[in-house]
Amino acid sequence: MCFRKFLATTLQALIAFLVLAPFLLSQTRPKPPKSVRLYVFDNGVIKGLDPAIFHFKKEELATTDMVVCSYLIVHPKGTLMWDTGAIPDADLKADGSPVTQERFTATKTLKSQLAALGYTPKNITYFALSHYHVDHIANANDFASSTWLVQQPERDAMFAEKGGAPITQRAKYIALKDSKTKILNGQDYDVFGDGTVVIKAAYGHTPGHQVVYLKLAKTGPILLAGDLYHYQEERNTDKTPTFEFDRDQSLASRAAIEAFIKKTGAQLWIEHDLAHFNQLKKAPGYYE
Ligand SMILES: [Zn+2]
Repeated sequence: MCFRKFLATTLQALIAFLVLAPFLLSQTRPKPPKSVRLYVFDNGVIKGLDPAIFHFKKEELATTDMVVCSYLIVHPKGTLMWDTGAIPDADLKADGSPVTQERFTATKTLKSQLAALGYTPKNITYFALSHYHVDHIANANDFASSTWLVQQPERDAMFAEKGGAPITQRAKYIALKDSKTKILNGQDYDVFGDGTVVIKAAYGHTPGHQVVYLKLAKTGPILLAGDLYHYQEERNTDKTPTFEFDRDQSLASRAAIEAFIKKTGAQLWIEHDLAHFNQLKKAPGYYE
């Protein structure tokens, strides 16, 4: 290539870059909102559950089916992804036809739901799991570049050399091991420093199960309860799942969270509650 041709090619590439740069930059992250937003993602359903593993008889529950969902919280200062579904995006179909794995069925990838809002896992500021169970971690590795907010006993169980955590698949979250990590030890953690997004410990279902409290300007306060309960019918009973890590701890956590929502007037959202989910606005709709 002669020098003049080289110069022309380089110049063309430079011009193309300068023309595209503002566009590409604006594509990397949407403009932050003025107040906190909550987006609800659809990650499918869980069917065929035996109510006995939750100490219920079939006729005591409206349905044994559960929904699998995850949440994106968008704050003026950054974003928090909460949970990641039961089936990895890589196993789902591009045409949106349903895919079933064990008891889980899903149609939509998590990344397509993020992309519809202008986000990719790479530009999410914070990442948190309610807990490490297999129906919450499917796409956790995608968020390894976010700052991981995790309780010390949860992380210890997730990466324990001996025994390891039950009802999970370490491979699906292994990348978090090297993430920038904020370790929590049961204290409330005010994610953005203004009291609008606060992680609260609710140990028992797993060693470091956690929930998140949101103070939304129009909707009011919401407590995203993770698996503190699985069914609405569990509230006001002492029934806990048969696979609870520490039942006494769970009952104490429930009592503390119930007292907290009574004090704050927060709505309690049970992540797996199908009837509740069906009533919710799903992304790209949002609560603010
Ligand atoms: Zn669950």
